[in-house]
Amino acid sequence: MIQFNCKCGGAMSVPDSMAGQVEKCPDCGRDVSAPSAPVKFRRSFGEQVSGVLAFLFILLALPVGVMVGDLFADGVGFVVGIGVCILFISAAAVQSAITNVLLYLRTIANN
Ligand SMILES: [Zn+2]
Repeated sequence: MIQFNCKCGGAMSVPDSMAGQVEKCPDCGRDVSAPSAPVKFRRSFGEQVSGVLAFLFILLALPVGVMVGDLFADGVGFVVGIGVCILFISAAAVQSAITNVLLYLRTIANN
């Protein structure tokens, strides 16, 4: 849905498929052309950083798990390594979940 305003201030909205087409204002009857594309919310800098961090966590999960596991005796090291690996992936999942919730809330707040 594309939302925009007529020159008279009347609120108008058309489906995305009507982008760029002329529509009559329900308030004053003036022909108004709909914006060519729906306005998308840009991700804030914080959200972009958060996304990169989540990616890094996933990327580092295995090598860090192996590295930390090596610090311990064989049997324990394996368990600790897997634990660290899972911890990193969970951190990434939690982080991207928080980012998505924030983005969702912001979209609601703006509508
Ligand atoms: Zn109007």
